[in-house]
Amino acid sequence: MTRLVLASNNAKKLKELDAILAPLGWELIPQGALGVPEAEEPHVTFVENALAKARHAAQATGLPALADDSGLCVAALGGAPGVQSARYAQTPAGEPKSDARNNEKLLAALAPHADRSAHFVSVIVFVRHADDPQPLIAEGEWHGKIVGELRGEGGFGYDPLFFVPEFGKTAAELDAATKNAVSHRARALESLLARLSPPAGG
Ligand code: IMP
Repeated sequence: MTRLVLASNNAKKLKELDAILAPLGWELIPQGALGVPEAEEPHVTFVENALAKARHAAQATGLPALADDSGLCVAALGGAPGVQSARYAQTPAGEPKSDARNNEKLLAALAPHADRSAHFVSVIVFVRHADDPQPLIAEGEWHGKIVGELRGEGGFGYDPLFFVPEFGKTAAELDAATKNAVSHRARALESLLARLSPPAGG
């Protein structure tokens, strides 16, 4: 097995990615287990933030690294909340992140708009080392509409407001297996895996 550091400490992400990467010969290790603190995400694009996180983890550990950055882009809001999705409703005073407040703010911002179209984006980056000049970059999108009130108990984040026309349900009303098969993250990961060679000797 070849060690690969994941630039995230999200247990759900680790489990989902590990199930896919272990059979290919990669041993996925969350950066926290190697004492790596979270990287800053100061950029205005998903790809820049994902690259910054992957490079930071590779630099700190000397291992190849995998990072992702994701969020919701709403057409009528010029792509907001975008890279700010997790912190959309946070005031400068620095309250903790809150999905409930983010959803409330999104509904208020969209109230005057007729166009409710939106999409989730996930960008996943793989670097062989911190100075890798050719990182693998994969992107996935999931298109839908923002409904007028919260629906469903599953998922996280903006899922209760994100209506998926092909299923006639919000993402929070879908079972986890269905979401994980069709989501932006699933699509980005599928695209990355198509280009990720097994490790040498893995
Ligand atoms: P992360 O950078 O992938 O951890 O996600 C950034 C933020 O985007 C999350 O905190 C959510 O607000 C939003 N987001 C990303 N993916 C999803 C999803 O699958 N469902 C709902 N919200 C999501």
